[in-house]
Amino acid sequence: MPLVSMRQLLDEAAKGGYGVGAFNVNDMEQIQAIMGAAVETKSPVIIQASRGARSFAQDRYLFHLILAASELHPEIPIAMHQDHGNSFETCKSAIELGFTSVMMDGSLKEDGKTPASFEENVEVTRRVVEYAHPRGVTVEGEIGVLGGVEDGHGAGGSGLDHVTDPDQAVEFAERTGVDALAIAIGTSHGAYKFTRPPTGDILAIQRVKEIHARIPNTHLVMHGSSSVPQEWLQIINNYGGDMGQTYGVPVEEIVEGIKNGVRKVNIDTDLRMASTGAIRKHLVENTSNFDPRKYYKAAEDAMKEICKARYEAFGAAGMASKIKATSLEKMAGKYAKHELDPKVK
Ligand SMILES: [Zn+2]
Repeated sequence: MPLVSMRQLLDEAAKGGYGVGAFNVNDMEQIQAIMGAAVETKSPVIIQASRGARSFAQDRYLFHLILAASELHPEIPIAMHQDHGNSFETCKSAIELGFTSVMMDGSLKEDGKTPASFEENVEVTRRVVEYAHPRGVTVEGEIGVLGGVEDGHGAGGSGLDHVTDPDQAVEFAERTGVDALAIAIGTSHGAYKFTRPPTGDILAIQRVKEIHARIPNTHLVMHGSSSVPQEWLQIINNYGGDMGQTYGVPVEEIVEGIKNGVRKVNIDTDLRMASTGAIRKHLVENTSNFDPRKYYKAAEDAMKEICKARYEAFGAAGMASKIKATSLEKMAGKYAKHELDPKVK
């Protein structure tokens, strides 16, 4: 199957009432772990690259690694997504490279730190939509400001500082025509989300429900949704690491979000922790080993287990075979006929 648009994957997820995992990648081992788990569970997947990843791996390496994944596993629908584009130019360069989806994060200014005004956000996001949709490419926007910082991107602070306002979400969807919208509901980027074990209602799930009811075909996205597995935190620290105590978003809370309209769930930290923990453990237990393949393999296996658990929890397992690829040309035709415009209630 060729790479598909993210819009198609999220439309399918909405029909089936499940969530699609969106995993950040920087290298081959991560892509192989994500794909290995997708193949075993027969799940559609969004593979995403941040600006940091694109510069770390160099664009074309990353692009061809993801293409290799789609060649090797034609039965798995894959969307290739730019995570947190900070400007029109970043999104345009991703589309030119062959990404099938981009995020224009206009909630922050181009520096990726300073909150932008609502009007600035609408303007830059609409410009990206006008460029992307005639090419069949999906656009995700963001309103409200997420807490935390990851890959040098983020406003910092707590996730509950700027929860997304439903009226603004509606106005934003109408004026920009985005396909998907990242909303702030209490999550933060990075590993340090909560200092105490989260109990009960840590996310503004009611807010998800309200926004979903008003813009039902604009797919909601949960950023900062790593669960920060405590077992991997322990392994990292038991094998010479020094990560502070921290807690993530429990998988059950994410599942609650999916029940209320979340369709894309972003995960990065969990795979970082699993690979770091697995490599630390391998090197301590195998002091004579100097073959990187052995510890890369340990890292890959650890990441793969997390991916499998997430596909299953989000309800995406078994859904890959229900999806027949719609070409980007065909998607462009649907946009031109206004079939995919936001439906506002
Ligand atoms: Zn994010």
